[in-house]
Amino acid sequence: MIYMRDKRAIVLKNPKLQKIRNNLRDLLLKAVSVKWNALFDDMNRLRFDSNGIRRTIDDFSEEEVKYFRRLQKEQAKLKDIQRRSILMCISCGVSDRDMVYNKSYDGWYCTECYDMHREHAKFLFQTIGKTKPYGHEDTTMHELLETFVDYEVSHEIELKLVREGILIYLLRFRYPKDDYATLEEIQKVLDRNQKAVRHVLKSLNKEKLVELEDTPNSLKVWLTQHRGTIEAERTLRTIRSDSFDHTFPTDLEDFKLLIGHRSDMIEYENPDLYEQLANSLKSKKVPKEEIKRKIEEHKKHFENILEGGLK
Ligand SMILES: [Zn+2]
Repeated sequence: MIYMRDKRAIVLKNPKLQKIRNNLRDLLLKAVSVKWNALFDDMNRLRFDSNGIRRTIDDFSEEEVKYFRRLQKEQAKLKDIQRRSILMCISCGVSDRDMVYNKSYDGWYCTECYDMHREHAKFLFQTIGKTKPYGHEDTTMHELLETFVDYEVSHEIELKLVREGILIYLLRFRYPKDDYATLEEIQKVLDRNQKAVRHVLKSLNKEKLVELEDTPNSLKVWLTQHRGTIEAERTLRTIRSDSFDHTFPTDLEDFKLLIGHRSDMIEYENPDLYEQLANSLKSKKVPKEEIKRKIEEHKKHFENILEGGLK
């Protein structure tokens, strides 16, 4: 259930072994705390004089300050080692559960915290899609959550959009003129990061939908004669709205309009978003009929935006 690349789960099913493991963890945690307390006592000997009167750091001699800092550093190191060890969950601090290692974060999580973070990450990345974090705090949180899911999971919606964009672009603007596109060019017209574009190109190549040629200056891309064209035409049919004739998109501006609206549509159409809305209304004790009406209203609203924009 929990196995992923770079993630190691240590799971014990046997209750006897679990007990032995927990006892061992307790023992090690106690050893850490004995050491920590000893350091604390040493520090207290500096903090108070022989009459029990508190001294501030200004009262310390130069040697004492040095020693005090060294003790502080050792304490911090000890805490960090303990925090990052398998002895306890880095998130909630429990020590009697199975643990999962998160390599990118260099820490052990109990299975409960791990699953919770993972579910939250999936929810976040798959509903918001492009996942643009706002501000520093948001960015840090996203980076942490990304480490709980594979790249494909955390960028599912973005990768889907990039895939559609590449196929349609090659079909409309680089085929059948026997012309190739480059990685940089695709990246620019789609306005997506290189990692996502590269990732999709590789998988399209595996499916034999595109051919790739790695030259010193660039990565060249062609749509393959049969499989590639058929798939690209199918993709275009599914995403082109009824209000366009078969020639759309004819120029780059049309193309950008199409993929821009496609991206809005996927993000707003996402069923999870409506489920979330329904749940929040349910928790506010809104009657069933009213919830249904509200959701229909939202869907209509987005349809209007999309149609209005495309006309
Ligand atoms: Zn935990």
